[in-house]
Amino acid sequence: MTTDADATPAPRTSPRTGSTRTATAPDRPAVRGGEPAFPAGLPLTRVQVPDRTALLARLATVLDSGQLTNGPTVRELEERAAELLQVPHVVAVASCTAGLMLVLQAAGVGAGRAVVMPGFSFSATAHAAHWAGGTPLFAEAREVDLTLEPAHAAERLAAADRPAALLATHVYGTPCQVERLREVADAAGVPLVYDAAHALGSRRRGVPVGGFGLAEVFSMSPTKVAVAGEGGLVATRDAALAQTLRIARDYGNPGDYDTRFPGLNARMSELHAAVGLNWLAELPARVAHRGTLAAAFAAETAGLAGLRTAWPEPGDTSTFKDLTLILDEAAFGLRVPELADALRAEGIDTRRYFHPPVHRQRAYARLGQAEHLPLTDRLAASVLTVPLWSQMDEAVVRRVAAAVTRIHRSAPQVRARRT
Ligand SMILES: *Cc1c(COP(=O)(O)O)cnc(C)c1O
Repeated sequence: MTTDADATPAPRTSPRTGSTRTATAPDRPAVRGGEPAFPAGLPLTRVQVPDRTALLARLATVLDSGQLTNGPTVRELEERAAELLQVPHVVAVASCTAGLMLVLQAAGVGAGRAVVMPGFSFSATAHAAHWAGGTPLFAEAREVDLTLEPAHAAERLAAADRPAALLATHVYGTPCQVERLREVADAAGVPLVYDAAHALGSRRRGVPVGGFGLAEVFSMSPTKVAVAGEGGLVATRDAALAQTLRIARDYGNPGDYDTRFPGLNARMSELHAAVGLNWLAELPARVAHRGTLAAAFAAETAGLAGLRTAWPEPGDTSTFKDLTLILDEAAFGLRVPELADALRAEGIDTRRYFHPPVHRQRAYARLGQAEHLPLTDRLAASVLTVPLWSQMDEAVVRRVAAAVTRIHRSAPQVRARRT
């Protein structure tokens, strides 16, 4: 059963933000000589392996079995993930990047054909298309939540010569406009694939991300929400695709050493699957807690001019793989690098996810597509990701919000200090 209660809570407005706080708080930001919020430092993510005792027992079983790859632990992980995602097939792979490559190859990408995808994503989205033999054709993000803009994706598909696929990213775990993207892909006659690296545990209108499109590919690398050490999961409703992927991850060898196509070694090891299984067991609780943390941050900063948080639609659930601030620098009073410097002085680690956007990175700038992506360029310049991890205390996230508030209130002085 899924109810609205599972959805990410809406940001509340908090009585703790507003002018009363400034009146009682004489605090200066650390960048202007105040006490740092986190003298010992606050990293962006912290990987905390759940239930060590259960994991060690599972690892011992794997070691005793003598089978270190492609065995019963991998199958158990696939079955558990299929239940959780409510899809008939999950194929575990060595990484999300490899999973995306193999899905795109199986979907007929190749010979330089265009794969329409967001410029606002992680580089691996584009790399996967490249290694599958395709060419990225970048489309704009939606201003409101930074996921792929379906109307612009449709335009880019129409402009392409024989496009091969549409590839969309659930950015930070925010579910895409899956209904509109389905229509866009169908109208163009191309398969729809999701880079779901951030979205293990996300829901679109109560339905788990995993069953939308031809396939959705998750990552279990260490910065993601559920971790296997390294690893990926391909979820699909297509039995033939799942079968092809099982062969593809094993060099293209169905078992008789007569390879049917050039595959990869993209298997997941039993050891990684054991780690991943432990994580999966705690996933729903972790995702719920992350939503609570994000809501607390949003509530604490609700009154600040020029600052918003990337947020899912009402009724949707985000994993908040990243808690990302979107600044309007004129209203906020600081540019992203200035805020990042001031947060560093507080001991708070940040990243600019995703800046530069993929179409601006040196690997793809040669494609010369920047003229199509003015909105993505502006959005990418305005994002700053702050720390969030699954075991974080709500008090910690409130302290980060208080630091951002303090810095904003001293914006003119903070800015003057830099020039
Ligand atoms: C991390 C990430 C990937 C790559 O995942 P790996 O498992 O490390 O290959 C792909 N896409 C996005 C959006 C990511 O953040």
